[in-house]
Amino acid sequence: MSDIIRRDPRAEWIARNRLHPLHAAMQKVEASWMGPNGLVRKNPHAVGFIGPNGLKRIDRSGAQQGGSGKRTTATVAVQLPLHIVEQPAFYIAVVPDMIGGRLSSHDKDLLGLAHKLAGSEGAVVAVVFGEHKENAFDTAGVDRLLHLEGELYDGYAPEQRVLALSAVESQLAPRHWLLPDSRTGGGELGRRLAAKLGERPATRVWQVAEGQCIGRAGAGQQDLLRRAPRLILAAVECAEPVGESRHEARALELREQIARNLPRIEDLGAVAVDPAAIPMAEAEFILSGGNGVKDWAQFHRAAVALGATEGASRVAVDDGFMPRNRQVGATGTWVTARVYLAVGISGAIQHLQGIGACDKVIALNLDPGCDMIKRADLSVIGDSAAILAALIERVTAYRQGGARDAA
Ligand SMILES: Cc1cc2nc3c(=O)[nH]c(=O)nc-3n(C[C@H](O)[C@H](O)[C@H](O)COP(=O)(O)OP(=O)(O)OC[C@H]3O[C@@H](n4cnc5c(N)ncnc54)[C@H](O)[C@@H]3O)c2cc1C
Repeated sequence: MSDIIRRDPRAEWIARNRLHPLHAAMQKVEASWMGPNGLVRKNPHAVGFIGPNGLKRIDRSGAQQGGSGKRTTATVAVQLPLHIVEQPAFYIAVVPDMIGGRLSSHDKDLLGLAHKLAGSEGAVVAVVFGEHKENAFDTAGVDRLLHLEGELYDGYAPEQRVLALSAVESQLAPRHWLLPDSRTGGGELGRRLAAKLGERPATRVWQVAEGQCIGRAGAGQQDLLRRAPRLILAAVECAEPVGESRHEARALELREQIARNLPRIEDLGAVAVDPAAIPMAEAEFILSGGNGVKDWAQFHRAAVALGATEGASRVAVDDGFMPRNRQVGATGTWVTARVYLAVGISGAIQHLQGIGACDKVIALNLDPGCDMIKRADLSVIGDSAAILAALIERVTAYRQGGARDAA
């Protein structure tokens, strides 16, 4: 095992938060200390560490004896308390977008809001269409999981999905319906569901409290306060995602058989678009370059190979390597990409403001201590030119391999 101390930010946060149920378990136990009379006192219970199977182990080599000062929290598996709702008094239904088959951060915010509305009596039911790869429904706050599979729901099938949701309506009569007010499905599905149910939804909602909700209106210029209706289409950061509890994610079945809807829409599949033509604010995958990019021709080749939309830091724009409309940040564009790959960008606060809503950030930098690395979900430490060259080579080989397999 390497000697590198891996930090667990979640464990550190719990150790600082005295109100967290696992706070006590996260405290470092002192193995020895100087008593008031000058004698060294030892705590035999503090010796050793908890192994991966939950058993206490004592390392006789002496490396761990007497508390070497290494944190033990990383080896303690955080087991959150299980929240069980045996007989729900009511349901809060959430229809997550499940972009790429996984809960997006927007979906998780929505589940956090649902959990708030459900309290201790209600249950949060997530209605998921088609195949998915998600295995963390429990920690995201799902009490009941209604998984509707089949080719009926594949691709772009909003009419079919609305039909299934109206069957959920008849079976569970949820107290609230929550959908993400997103361009990736939820916004349209929510409005179609509202028309089907004959109810007026609250849209672009960013706060729900005490029976009232606040949503953006007037082209985003104003806030609209109204009584929270049954159907809420919520914006990102409408609530804190669930983080303190585990939920059952118990499977739920739909009693009614869903008939095939006469399709008035023909799905012709995804259409390839030029990533360079996508407006920055709408781009899903951005390759962004900063002062650490030394070979801009190579950077452009990397963007083409990856199929990414190009972005830049202000320094790259000021130096004339990228056009002004590509600047990301406080005085540029605020982006909402699912993946933001920052090449040679230090992570100044003005730049980080612009990527606050990005789902996953990957940093490629020479300096392991820079702020972009701290913000990133995945970091690659090294020279941008060497790493971009390797990336282009791998992606090209992968694409060619895929084309050969298909042929
Ligand atoms: C009012 C105001 C508004 C601003 N608005 C914005 C804005 O909207 N957007 C914005 O981006 N900035 C903005 N800025 C500027 C901001 O403060 C930073 O100066 C800027 O973001 C830094 O850009 P950078 O990270 O590309 O460059 P630097 O800070 O110079 O960082 C370069 C990074 O590249 C790394 N590096 C160097 N060589 C290599 C290599 N060979 N391989 C890999 N990595 C390497 C370095 O370690 C460093 O981390 C604003 C500033 C002000 C005062």
